[in-house]
Amino acid sequence: MSNASSTKTTMTSDNQSATLLDGKALAKQIEQELRTRVDTLKEKTGRTPSLATILVGDDPASATYVRMKGNACKRVGMDSIRVEMPSTTTTEQLKAKIDELNNNPDVHGILLQHPVPDHVDERACFEQIDLAKDVDGVTCLGFGRMAMQQSAYGSCTPQGIMHLLDYYNIELAGLEAVVVGRSAILGKPMAMMLLNANCTVTMCHSKTQDLAAHIKRADIVVGAVGVPELIKAEWIKKGAVVVDAGFHPTDNGGVGDIEMTGVADIASAYTPVPGGVGPMTINTLIRQTVEAAEKAAGL
Ligand code: NAP
Repeated sequence: MSNASSTKTTMTSDNQSATLLDGKALAKQIEQELRTRVDTLKEKTGRTPSLATILVGDDPASATYVRMKGNACKRVGMDSIRVEMPSTTTTEQLKAKIDELNNNPDVHGILLQHPVPDHVDERACFEQIDLAKDVDGVTCLGFGRMAMQQSAYGSCTPQGIMHLLDYYNIELAGLEAVVVGRSAILGKPMAMMLLNANCTVTMCHSKTQDLAAHIKRADIVVGAVGVPELIKAEWIKKGAVVVDAGFHPTDNGGVGDIEMTGVADIASAYTPVPGGVGPMTINTLIRQTVEAAEKAAGL
């Protein structure tokens, strides 16, 4: 990959060429480092880091995500345990399964694939995950600890975005950040992470009036809405950092939550879609599971 870490990206009004925040390449590089850490752990302790994934129901997109996570485990030499439960699973049955995994010393991280069927209390099931195994950063306790800058695994997508921004030396302190979307797994933790990095943060959502006005004054924009190209390129401020968490497949590949046509000429840095945020999400899950295994082994 290009030696992007040497690039100092700051807000500028006359940027010549925007930095591509290449999540795919960075994730590949981190995987190599993780492979070494997994090997070391195996040599020192005889233990292999293991991620348990739980898929409830038969949503094809969720099944694909779970498969991708299992494949990422394999690539770094980790184990993964795939738990599949029928769509008729009750909240109590799912909580009992999570407890079983909490008590299994061979499991270091637990991922409950979101969303679960409507009749299941997803929040209650997330809360059942032991903090030490909450490598997807979904529990209230984990969120609170992250917000208070205490040790915790952050929610993987925003944590992956922070890693990407850090790798490319994006200077965040003092920037006006606008996060569009306020979900528990993405928008909220993203806003908190940017606040902790000393940005001045605005959170936008479906009831926000005049979204364009907020985006127009943003030095960094994060699209986390789930609406194809909701955020228009013409709203992006010259020199802004543009991060797009969305992905919506199209005949030509896919688009994100931000209209990217022309953004390379406006922004100082931007994530491609695909190949920006997505690979960093899975990578963060794997990295946090390796960390959990290292902690469990006392390393
Ligand atoms: P979500 O739970 O559906 O939340 C969407 C958020 O966007 C909500 O807070 C909603 O506001 C807000 N919103 C919806 N329409 C809006 C509008 N017209 N104007 C302003 N805000 C609006 O979605 P999510 O799970 O956070 O995911 C968001 C996006 O990120 C999706 O594109 C998803 O595919 C993507 N994603 C990517 C990854 C990855 O690994 N790359 C991981 C997770 C999610 P209200 O709260 O008012 O309803």
